Amino acid sequence: MNSSIPTDPATEMEERLLSVVRQYWGYESLRPLQQASMEMMLDGQDSLLVLPTGGGKSLCFQVPAVLRGDTTVVISPLISLMKDQVDSLQANGIPAAGLNSSMEPEEVRQTEQAILNGEIRLLYVSPERMATSGFRSLLHKIDVRRFVIDEAHCISHWGHDFRPDYRQLKNLKQLFPNSSVHAFTATATQEVREDIANQLGFDSSHVLVGNFDRPNLTYRVERRGKLLSQVMNRLNKHNGEAGIIYCIRRRDVDELRESLEANGIHALGYHAGMSAEERIATQNAFIQEECDLVVATVAFGMGIDRSNIRFVIHTGMPKSIEHYQQETGRAGRDGLEAECTLFYTGADAHLWRHLVEQSAAQSNGNVASDFVENAVQHINDMESYCRPIDCRHRKLVEYFGQSYNDASCQACDLCLDDAEPVEDAQTIAKKILSCVFRVDQNFGVNHVISVLRGENIQAIRQRNHQELSTYGLLKGHPKTELRDWIDQLIGQEVLIKAGSDYPVLHLNDASWDVMKDRKTIKLRQTSSDVDESTPSSGRRSRSAEVSWEGVDRELFESLRGLRKQLAEERGVPPYVVFSDNTLREMARVRPASEETLYMISGIGQSKLKKFGEVFLTSINEYCDERGLSRDNEMSEPPAKKKPLKTTRTAPKAGSSKETGIEQFRNGASIEAVSQSTGRQQRTVVQYLCDMIQEDQPASVEQWVDNQTYTQIENAAAEVGTSRMKPVFVALNEEIPYEHIAVVLAHLNCHNQP
Ligand code: ADP
Repeated sequence: MNSSIPTDPATEMEERLLSVVRQYWGYESLRPLQQASMEMMLDGQDSLLVLPTGGGKSLCFQVPAVLRGDTTVVISPLISLMKDQVDSLQANGIPAAGLNSSMEPEEVRQTEQAILNGEIRLLYVSPERMATSGFRSLLHKIDVRRFVIDEAHCISHWGHDFRPDYRQLKNLKQLFPNSSVHAFTATATQEVREDIANQLGFDSSHVLVGNFDRPNLTYRVERRGKLLSQVMNRLNKHNGEAGIIYCIRRRDVDELRESLEANGIHALGYHAGMSAEERIATQNAFIQEECDLVVATVAFGMGIDRSNIRFVIHTGMPKSIEHYQQETGRAGRDGLEAECTLFYTGADAHLWRHLVEQSAAQSNGNVASDFVENAVQHINDMESYCRPIDCRHRKLVEYFGQSYNDASCQACDLCLDDAEPVEDAQTIAKKILSCVFRVDQNFGVNHVISVLRGENIQAIRQRNHQELSTYGLLKGHPKTELRDWIDQLIGQEVLIKAGSDYPVLHLNDASWDVMKDRKTIKLRQTSSDVDESTPSSGRRSRSAEVSWEGVDRELFESLRGLRKQLAEERGVPPYVVFSDNTLREMARVRPASEETLYMISGIGQSKLKKFGEVFLTSINEYCDERGLSRDNEMSEPPAKKKPLKTTRTAPKAGSSKETGIEQFRNGASIEAVSQSTGRQQRTVVQYLCDMIQEDQPASVEQWVDNQTYTQIENAAAEVGTSRMKPVFVALNEEIPYEHIAVVLAHLNCHNQP
């Protein structure tokens, strides 16, 4: 390198972080805010990072812990979460340990010794252990410099998961004055954030808040009708995939689970009324992928780190958007597409309001009135999310105080146009609004519907409402449909529903704009109104289409089986072996060599060593049987991972690869090696590339003539040496891939540091 060119410190830091990320995790880039958060930790500056679930918070403290080389203490609320993280770190070759109450004394002693010996980079403990003087003195002995508080919302009264044990963590800075404290949470509200920062004594300059949008999640809301068939409809779409169905009450969990079993769908249940053993059994079966479907109350989820949950169904409306965000957030942690469907009716909000008021009444004045108001406001916000408005991603992001810049998310029922537009929406809206006016803006939704439908019932007769000009104006329309349209008008703020004892419909200025055609209204036909035999909500989001593009699904399923088997042998959850993302990429690229395998995102050196050979063998067998192409193009360009030399596993004696490499060393041609090993040319070219990388020969003239070499070299200088396709295109698609592969391998091995 020319020493007169100054190095950009930002790039230098990024490179430093990335080299660890590549080597241990096998990822090619950092996600938003990861670098900023890692830098704060490396600088010893206290920090609070708020990122949605799946945003990649763990890496933010794990990478600095590896770089610093001493022990970072991570305080985490659940043993199961600690265990999963420790397993994942160990699988990536990072020394990590947990200390918890379920361990045998001997195991605790050994772990403490390893801590004292400085062997542990990340140590996971519960807040209770953190409170013990014995443990604190152990930490003083090793002079701990960094504490991480995971799930930091547990520290806040306002968080949905407040834990008194977390409260004492605010003393950490006094107890360990030389250390910095780093808090992480996915809970987004301003109130919770401020409370956490306050408790820990940070000011706002220490708070990093990421983007709350989860573009890989498709949100859908449907009016609840025949729930079982609506749920079955969703399950059919997600056949073989993992999902959670949330119910509001325990009774609903049991009933739905039994109905599903009666329909041949196996699901486990989870709610607080079950014994601790039963609950643990459900949780373990789900994490270990022995069972893919759980029907549960919201009690289920906090200890669930399973990253390939492809759908979450809510059979009733949650009591706040925060809860909804948290529960749906469990889907698609791996960044791949997932679907979140909410079935609701107006009765859900009613039920929640009733429960809040009931618990306030039962508390004999112990529940503050602002708490009740706050709870009711959360319910109202959630109800307004359920109404068909604009775009659900936008609504969620804006709720958390951020702006949403895309015109359409292409990942919600509204933007995907699941629901047909109602043709004469303006006329219908005017009929509804004038009916509200005619009943003197003094009646609730049910009565207005009855008038519009021209019902002959006592409530109408006794008020003479059959005489109104709007009586029977929407005769023949089902109640659910009218209710839904009224909801949509409320959602579009041209109709108001208010009143503390009994909510009444009334008009506002915007209602008159609609009546006078100064404002145009759109209404949608929601799916519960359409024929239930037709599968609803069929369109797939853009992220769903992209993430399956080019994936050999059969191979993916077979690799999934292999992953499960390896996980069982090691007593770890399958996603600790590889994420679905990594498996899909394997099933897309069908790597023929360790080098290509290593280029796949999510495969660091340790996992390559542990699992590379067995996965390659499986892919080899699958492809050989079917005569399939190998080393297909990656979905994302691989960057420059660390060279593999140190971790290479030698080819098995007598394998085609070993024979091929030997022949190439003796100068054999590609055709000759292909013939003698019985392997396709593409495959033996990969052997040749391996040999080039290993031996770094001065020239590759035997396989590519000098003129072609120079052509490829010039093109690579323009478009880079990491991928073959751009070079192929730059050379007008005239030079065969084999030649490009060989030259790029040669150029790369000579460019290595
Ligand atoms: P969170 O704790 O914010 O919910 P995780 O730390 O569990 O999220 O990360 C979610 C997934 O994303 C994990 O599988 C993690 O390994 C992966 N991940 C994190 N950072 C990156 C990155 N920079 N590139 C690719 N994958 C990443």
